[in-house]
Amino acid sequence: MSHRDSHDVIVVGAGASGLAAATALHAAGRDTVCLEARDRIGGRLLSAPTSDPDRALDLGATWFWDGEERVRALAARSGIETFDQHLAGDTLLQETTGTHRLTGNLIDAPSRRFANGSQSLAYALAAALPADILRLNTPVTAIHPDGQGGLDLRTPAGTRHAGHVVLAVPPALALERIDFGDALPADLVRLARSTPVWMGAVAKVVAQYPAAFWREEGLAGAAFSRTGPLQEIHDMSGPDGRPAALFGFAHARTVRPGFDKAVTAQLVALFGPAAATPDVLHVQNWSTEQWTAPSTVPHLADYSLFGHPLYQQPTLDGRLHWASTETATDHAGHIEGAIAAGERAALAVLAAPPVPNSRSITVTTTSR
Ligand SMILES: Cc1cc2nc3c(=O)[nH]c(=O)nc-3n(C[C@H](O)[C@H](O)[C@H](O)COP(=O)(O)OP(=O)(O)OC[C@H]3O[C@@H](n4cnc5c(N)ncnc54)[C@H](O)[C@@H]3O)c2cc1C
Repeated sequence: MSHRDSHDVIVVGAGASGLAAATALHAAGRDTVCLEARDRIGGRLLSAPTSDPDRALDLGATWFWDGEERVRALAARSGIETFDQHLAGDTLLQETTGTHRLTGNLIDAPSRRFANGSQSLAYALAAALPADILRLNTPVTAIHPDGQGGLDLRTPAGTRHAGHVVLAVPPALALERIDFGDALPADLVRLARSTPVWMGAVAKVVAQYPAAFWREEGLAGAAFSRTGPLQEIHDMSGPDGRPAALFGFAHARTVRPGFDKAVTAQLVALFGPAAATPDVLHVQNWSTEQWTAPSTVPHLADYSLFGHPLYQQPTLDGRLHWASTETATDHAGHIEGAIAAGERAALAVLAAPPVPNSRSITVTTTSR
């Protein structure tokens, strides 16, 4: 193995959690690489560009809330423009018997949004990293103890060695996609396989329009539906109402041929004929994303496992550290939880004793 393939720390996954860990470790002077399976960073932070280079539409995370100090601070220090979620107007309730208008916005809590999409948070975190730390298109397929206190990681491009690994991947996905042999304790395997992936079983639909016509009718763009396919709908327009957009969540299992037409028909039934012709209709089915959702995702529902104590301690002789929003003790499921989990894992790595006889220790010494 060349010294280029051996590192103090390898972070698996370049979502918010992995990027937060990698930036903290790099800032502390650790030789770190971050291996990302996809050809992009951000994971569940995914924003579709629009014709305006400063405005994007979120296909993953959308909002952040009061008290989410890490997200607020990251946006503020990175110069990311944020704005209040549009709240004004009435709510629509769609039932089999018809559509009812309810006074006021009964769905949306006050929250803030990112003018250029939540993926801008991932770009901001990555901007603090030298380019060669991030390796895209590099899925980790196996992690095994190397017998000398460190870990070997297999990727299609070859094996890498690390003193520590931060696993910033939803635990159930990690167990399905990464071969750990029989190295992990049985209770941890059971826990990880049972832990839901936040929003992993939903499809998010975003309909972009020339204008936020529903606002002119005094509607908030907020709707509940008992008929579907979208179960709840929100205004997702930009800061000044541009780009104008509505978004909704659907159960991924309802995404079948004809889904787009069914969604448009539902939007027309709720918001009127102007909803019939969106400029763009995005359907982002997270359940079929191989680097987000394990095959078991529709059956994972025990959210009390989020932030489980077993995720707060390293495993594999103190060398494998859990991250990802699912492992956070606070704000689990949210971007805030993802960043907190990444920071917690980075601190644990920094506090750990050096790996005895580790090849990565030799590398660190000779490469500095
Ligand atoms: C539709 C939707 C709406 C949401 N809305 C909100 C919201 O409004 N507000 C909010 O706070 N949160 C929201 N969330 C949740 C938020 O997006 C997540 O909490 C956060 O992005 C998770 O970050 P993460 O780094 O923990 O995981 P991920 O973003 O899933 O990152 C994991 C990364 O690991 C990579 N990876 C996976 N397997 C491997 C492997 N074997 N090798 C290498 N790389 C691998 C993946 O490609 C991915 O980049 C939403 C999520 C979705 C899907």
